[in-house]
Amino acid sequence: MEESPSLIVFVDAFPYSELMKAPFLNGFRYRRPLVPNIGYSVNLQAEIFTGKSPDDLGYFCDWKFDPEKSPFRSWNKILSLLTPLEFGYLPRRFVHKVLSRFRGVECKDIPMRFLPHLSPTKRDVFSMDFPGGSLFTQFGFAIIKCTDFRGELWERDVAVFEKAKEELKTRPRLVLMLGALDGCGHWEGVGSAKWDSLIGALDDKCRELCEVYERHYRGGTVAVLSDHGMSNVQRGHKIDLSRLNGKRCKCFVDGTIIRVWSGDEDVLDDASKYLNSVDWGSLLSEAERRDAGITNREFGDLIFIANEGEQICPSFWGAKLSKGMHGYRASNKQMGIALLSWEPRMAPREWAAQQVYRELRRAMGEGED
Ligand SMILES: [Zn+2]
Repeated sequence: MEESPSLIVFVDAFPYSELMKAPFLNGFRYRRPLVPNIGYSVNLQAEIFTGKSPDDLGYFCDWKFDPEKSPFRSWNKILSLLTPLEFGYLPRRFVHKVLSRFRGVECKDIPMRFLPHLSPTKRDVFSMDFPGGSLFTQFGFAIIKCTDFRGELWERDVAVFEKAKEELKTRPRLVLMLGALDGCGHWEGVGSAKWDSLIGALDDKCRELCEVYERHYRGGTVAVLSDHGMSNVQRGHKIDLSRLNGKRCKCFVDGTIIRVWSGDEDVLDDASKYLNSVDWGSLLSEAERRDAGITNREFGDLIFIANEGEQICPSFWGAKLSKGMHGYRASNKQMGIALLSWEPRMAPREWAAQQVYRELRRAMGEGED
């Protein structure tokens, strides 16, 4: 089969509501808000490019309770010796960096005594050996991602655009993965001067790339996508870890999501009571878990989500409050962009991740399976 040319530009954390700041992208004929599922980029991106839910994929968020597979499973003693260092910010950062490098896994600010119980997801849909395959492996895409370059976040994105201009001369199917906007949203906030100028710069780079692409592959498919939006943080909230972690109970605390595991229903009842007592977030119901495709108990016996604009701080990702966060239930600000330059067969007002996958497959000349 002849390869239908396709260019996919993926921008992490581009809220649909910010599209009017990007005149070129906003000029795409077909624009849809993309409704993200629950979770973070690691599962959201995979959902878009495989059409599978976290239940199908077998993972949700970046870490889970899994002592068997923990890279620190036999490190109990040494980590408890290092624990006193956690009281100082700088020594803690230093030890975490050393541990991350030594075990080849980013352990951020996870308390050291927790590490032997937890294992990282370590999946990347922008990789050619993604388990079970993806749109990119099925259709022979060249993948160019910002994490393959060094430098400041925006310098990496610029390097991705430059490499793409070279690659497209020989590769008609190309995907770019850009990460600077996500970083800027977290540390500068949505609507900050840096954020606005970054959207302008991204828009210019997309225009440049699309012009070159069009010269090589007139009429080829172009899609610009994101996995979720970004909301400015209003307040931070401390969590009492002693209520969620002990001999019979384990937890993982992300910036907006808390997951709790225990084989003991009474212990889970206590944890639920504690989490239900706060007024800035709530536990996912069984119905919500079913709708989101996160019913697997390995993802957490309890899953708590902060309300939009609230952040758990400190969390296992850091001790500082961010300016912007995502990982809430979907709302206007949480919606990402889905811009497609071809005519969609159906044009619903909003798209969920799995719909985007089906439309992308159709654009490659494949029917629905
Ligand atoms: Zn992010």
